[in-house]
Amino acid sequence: MSDFAAARERMIERQIAGRGLRDPRLLEAFSAVPRELFVPRELEERAYDDCALPIECGQTISQPYIVALTVHAAEIGPDHRVLEVGAGSGYAAAVMSRLARAVIAVERIPALARLADERMRSLGFDNVLVLSRDGSLGCPGQAPFDAIVCAAAGPQVPQAWLEQLAPGGRIVMPVGAIEGVQQLVRVTLDRDRQPHREELEPVRFVPLIGAQAYDEPDPS
Ligand code: SAH
Repeated sequence: MSDFAAARERMIERQIAGRGLRDPRLLEAFSAVPRELFVPRELEERAYDDCALPIECGQTISQPYIVALTVHAAEIGPDHRVLEVGAGSGYAAAVMSRLARAVIAVERIPALARLADERMRSLGFDNVLVLSRDGSLGCPGQAPFDAIVCAAAGPQVPQAWLEQLAPGGRIVMPVGAIEGVQQLVRVTLDRDRQPHREELEPVRFVPLIGAQAYDEPDPS
């Protein structure tokens, strides 16, 4: 086993299963994705550390446990179509692609979307479509989705996502102020399209920036 493969198995054992997320499908999905290929080259030795890491364009790749928590809460089944908002490195989209039929991953920064797309192609993860756009509006051309997962914190759940969610579907996203702690929230749409909201865990994410989210930061 390579050093990276051994580090990956240790990460799954200690950081994910060890904290109570033991669904075998979830653990297998993490086992199938080489996280060292989703961080900048100079950080590859730290790819399996128990923390978020900086990536290109001033963004971050989430802590593995936080990806696991979010993906687990989305209850992704083998026939599901998933929208990920905030693809970043593409790591979470790659993990979800091992669980779902198709993943549409949208990212507002074109250079990050391009890198994430190249990673999917080189790994042969052909059921992931990476698009560069404002995901606060969802992705109407690809809807409906069985799950919408977001890795950036917004002021509220965007209305567009509720409209693009299939009945019985789930949205998992951090909701709260830009600075400080947010709540990871799950909204489930019942068969009559009524939303039901649960607060899962306090978390800390980068902001969701877009038409149905926060404004672009002032460059000054
Ligand atoms: N899931 C990623 C985490 C990326 S951090 C990973 O596994 O690496 C969140 C990402 O959300 C950032 O890359 C940021 O550019 C992106 N983002 C913020 N607002 C967005 C929006 N409205 N639409 C799409 N992406 C957005």
